[in-house]
Order: sequence, then C-alpha cells, then structure tokens
Amino acid sequence: MTTPNSPGCGHGQLLLPERLVEGYKSFLGGHFTREQDRFRHLAAAGQNPRIMLIGCCDSRVSPEVIFDAEPGELFILRNIANLVPPYAPNEDLHGTSAALEYAVMGLQVEHIVVMGHAGCGGVRAFAQGEFSAGYKPLSPSDFIGNWISLIAPAAARIEAGGPIDDYVDRVAMASIVQGLANMRSFPWIRAREREGKLALHGAYFGIASGALVALDEASGCFEPIAGEALCAASAAQKQ
Ligand SMILES: [Zn+2]
Repeated sequence: MTTPNSPGCGHGQLLLPERLVEGYKSFLGGHFTREQDRFRHLAAAGQNPRIMLIGCCDSRVSPEVIFDAEPGELFILRNIANLVPPYAPNEDLHGTSAALEYAVMGLQVEHIVVMGHAGCGGVRAFAQGEFSAGYKPLSPSDFIGNWISLIAPAAARIEAGGPIDDYVDRVAMASIVQGLANMRSFPWIRAREREGKLALHGAYFGIASGALVALDEASGCFEPIAGEALCAASAAQKQ
C-alpha cells in the first residue's frame, strides 16, 4: 500500500477523478467549515436519523438535495429503480433487506419513504423487456434483468399500452405501492408499524418540474406536496 511517505508518492497521478477533488476542496473550505460542529457531534454521538429513504441510483434524483437534508438526517439506500424485495430469509445476498434491518432494528427509524421518479431507466428496462422481443441485457449475467423482475407484480396491476413514457411512469408509481406491500412482508416492519412506531410512505419526484407527489394509501393516489401536480393516480390501475 502506498502511504504518504512511501517511495513513489507524489508521482502526480490523480488518485480520484478531478471533479471529486475539486468538489471536495470546495466542501472542505465551505460546507464543512460552516458545519464543523455538526460533524464533530455526529462523530462523537453517532448517527440517529429518524427517516430512511429508499431511492433510485439515478444521478438526477439525489435525496439530500431534494429534501435539503444535512448529514445525519437521512438514512439512504439507493438501488436500481428504488425497489424493495419481499422478505426472503435465506443464504442469498440481500443488500436492500440488510439496510432495512439496520434502519428498523438498529436505528429504529420512525419513517421509511420509497421514492421513485419520472423517466426511471430501471423501470424503462423492465417495460422494454416486457414488450420488445429484441431487448438484450447489458451483460451476460443480467443482474439488472433479475433485479427488475421485482417490478412484475406492480406492472401486472396496471393497464399496459399507451405511450411508452407514460407507461413507464405509471409502472414506476405502481412499483412504489408494491414496495410498501413488500416492506410489510418483513415481520419486524409489520410489527413496528402496527405498534405505531414506524410509518411507511411513497413519493415520486418529477425531475424537470421539481414536483414531488406523495402516496395517499387510502385513495391509492399520489397527491402533490408542493409544486405542480403530477398526480397520475392509480386511476389506470385495474380494480
Ligand atoms: Zn430510476
């Protein structure tokens, strides 16, 4: 391992992409300097976020930016298409379930928000795989294809057809509803929700409009929180 004093150190090779180095310098001289007390407190006291957010990996949908959140406030998990698998205790590698377990059983968060977004590439990949025979996976192992098969139960509940962009967004919303149902298949999530110690939420971000809608589980409709209404409702869902 090369340490700062090792021969060969300082050979001029950039160890991180330049964009990250510049961004870090800006953070160090700005945000970190202003919030140094907060970072010291977080380091000493540990984290105690009250909200877990499950979002998509999509680089345009950054939860800390959308919710104007500081370090320590949100426990965030991002995966392809913000999916939640059902409870399946076995020897497989369950990254999302492990994060849920830590958030609920370790941190004892009070809220879990599944946040989808407009134009989701993961949902689009599912839709294309569903409707075009010529769709090819990105790699022979097709991790994405296997992962996004979690969308199938949600897609089965809505009417297919219409413009592909509209269909992708409707599937993305239905998948959020499915994500909450899958979370409730975890016995410790169900128990804490029943005890009133945990609330589950769904949200959907519009990207271009900045609009955020949230799921009203009673009506099955996504209601605007602020900004332009996006509510596609689940009117298109099969009853
Ligand atoms: Zn996405």
